[in-house]
Amino acid sequence: MTGKKVIVVFGATGAQGGSVARAILESKKFAVRALTRDVTRPSALALQDLGAEVVRGDLNDKASVEAALKGAYGAFLVTNFWEHQNKEKEVCQGKLVADIAKPLGLKHVVYSGLENVKRLSGGKLEVPHFDGKGEVEEYFWSIGVPMTSTRLAAYFENFLTMWKPVKASDADYYTLALPMGDTPMDGISVGDIGPIISSIFNCPEEFLGKAVGLSAEALTIQQYADILSKALGKEVRDAKISPETYEKLGFPAAQELANMCRFYQMKPDRDVKLTHRLNPRVKSFSQFISENLDTFKDI
Ligand code: NAP
Repeated sequence: MTGKKVIVVFGATGAQGGSVARAILESKKFAVRALTRDVTRPSALALQDLGAEVVRGDLNDKASVEAALKGAYGAFLVTNFWEHQNKEKEVCQGKLVADIAKPLGLKHVVYSGLENVKRLSGGKLEVPHFDGKGEVEEYFWSIGVPMTSTRLAAYFENFLTMWKPVKASDADYYTLALPMGDTPMDGISVGDIGPIISSIFNCPEEFLGKAVGLSAEALTIQQYADILSKALGKEVRDAKISPETYEKLGFPAAQELANMCRFYQMKPDRDVKLTHRLNPRVKSFSQFISENLDTFKDI
């Protein structure tokens, strides 16, 4: 036993939770109890090697979440909409943690939330992976759990996967198809989240009861394209796709992502200055791409 206060990290084997668990362990102020459905997976064992207590838990299993949160000072909660793409399920998982944190008297929950776009737009726009998190934020506060919500900008990592530049047909350039018009879109490397969340746990008096938007920088799609062009030595252009065309692209989340960009065009509050204060080593998009050039070997 270290005698340190314990922070339970949900999603610890994933991108956000993994970054958070490592940063809290590095800062040495709190002990980390990392939750996973499979304690034998390599990312769980790696956290154990770094000093985390790894416990089995499932957000669909109340008893396991209760056992994990018992005796803890705080928790970092991220829920993964994309695993099931069901808003109600995500809301249920978030509310479960709130309902358990309340009677256990947790002192600080940092929740990876987002805006309830449906409510903010008077029902005009639905972005289920935002809306559910917004409902959970509201629920945490309504039942009086001491909570900070962190609303993350789009991951820069998306540009290595689903937003990778695509070769234009019959042309020698590549395009980025994101329906943002000329409005800058906030971004951040998910790997830089951990030190930010750790800083928030270290300053509860400043952050309890607040929602903070996190972003390394905001760039137009043409600016993202220019940085990619320079780094890859291949021309990348903004495809200048409209939300109306994007939502007809036919892949399962096309409508949802078109609406997300419509919401991004309303410029939700993402605080670049605060983000850099909480993690002075937060990477720019240009730095991020130069560290991930290998991913573009095939283009
Ligand atoms: P990730 O890397 O895929 O990791 C998902 C984590 O969730 C894993 O550690 C997994 O743990 C855990 N998990 C999933 N279901 C669970 C359950 N039933 N019980 C316990 N743990 C469970 O995901 P991520 O990127 O960290 O986070 C995903 C979330 O980020 C999404 O909800 C998305 O909306 C949000 N987000 C994404 C972006 C973006 O640009 N991509 C931006 C802002 C917010 P085990 O499998 O080990 O149990």
